[in-house]
Amino acid sequence: MRGFAMKKIGVTGWVEKDVEKCGPLDAICRPLAVAPCTSDIHTVYEGAVGERTDMILGHEAVGEVVEVGSLVKDFKPGDRVIVPAITPDWGSLEAQRGFAMHSGGALGGWKFSNFKDGVFAELFHVNEADANLALLPDGIDPAEATMVCDMIPTGFHGVELAEVTYGEDVLVIGIGPVGLMSVKGAALRGAGRILAVGTRPNCVALAKEYGATDIISYKDGAIDEQVRDLTNGKGVDKVIIAGGDVNTFAEAIRSVKPGGIISNVNYLGSGDYVKIPRAEWGVGMGHIRIVGGLMPAGRMRTERLANLMVNGRLDVSGMLTHKLEGLDSIPEGVQLMKDKPADLIKPVVTISY
Ligand code: NDP
Ligand code: ZN
Repeated sequence: MRGFAMKKIGVTGWVEKDVEKCGPLDAICRPLAVAPCTSDIHTVYEGAVGERTDMILGHEAVGEVVEVGSLVKDFKPGDRVIVPAITPDWGSLEAQRGFAMHSGGALGGWKFSNFKDGVFAELFHVNEADANLALLPDGIDPAEATMVCDMIPTGFHGVELAEVTYGEDVLVIGIGPVGLMSVKGAALRGAGRILAVGTRPNCVALAKEYGATDIISYKDGAIDEQVRDLTNGKGVDKVIIAGGDVNTFAEAIRSVKPGGIISNVNYLGSGDYVKIPRAEWGVGMGHIRIVGGLMPAGRMRTERLANLMVNGRLDVSGMLTHKLEGLDSIPEGVQLMKDKPADLIKPVVTISY
């Protein structure tokens, strides 16, 4: 089969290889819609997870099951499924501790386009199909459902990690597709004021639609100074980081109140250290928690998130700014993600048969 791969750090191209064998618990799927991700760009062009040779890229797919293993109970060939970006080993000790995304070791549940071939291919393999696949609900467009693979669960996880609750002031740093889902997730969890940081006009407009009350441009000066100006010097209750770099943490700590939480879902692709400003961290005694996490996955959570779309509580159509058709347009989608033109939020590639 053919797949679009990371040939080595900084180089992509098509490769021909065999699809992994379908074990008794597994499934083989073909893609109906796939979405390139900023993480693919960190992986290929920053070499953020290290060197990889001819590894097929992509971890956001809605597909059709073409084969299942003998022990798979709930899925059969022909089923249309949402395939989460993270596909843990659910029997692992890490999963039993509540951190399935780290099954087998840190970030171990992130297999596609990290430890194994991803979904930008004619066929792809899914481990533990019953636990990892989710049924695509009737009436949900496969292209829109690709947002349930990674953007919604990651953005919402930032909100969960920050423990956002009713009426809080929440700062969301970064309003690409992940941060936009954090804005929406914070609004769904009852945040009061939502301050959102970003500049691309499409993203700013959608952030407002999703519930942002204030927009901050990181290009207009330090984020924390702008947050302090907007909050009478008090700062915010929670910060969710979905953009920026290792230096963004200092701005987050300077923006949050004592007792606040800073939650990071940004993939820190470069830089050796995250620095914590001593005084603003309450000289070590400010009860300011810093936490970062890879998205949780699993069938139940994925079907629940899709349920928000089914019931009209979450509309992701505005995120899909660039719609492409056919496997052959995947390189163009990846290039868009690399270049980030001003009008881009998320590209999606639909594949018809
Ligand atoms: P985008 O690049 O589309 O968005 C990044 C956002 O950050 C933009 O709004 C951008 O603003 C803003 N930004 C850029 N520089 C700064 C800065 N110095 N200070 C503050 N804000 C800044 O990324 P995505 O939304 O696609 O992804 C966000 C991150 O999440 C990526 O690192 C991605 O790899 C990661 N990720 C993590 C996952 C997880 O499970 N934890 C899963 C999936 C993705 P502007 O409007 O100017 O462009
Ligand atoms: Zn992704």
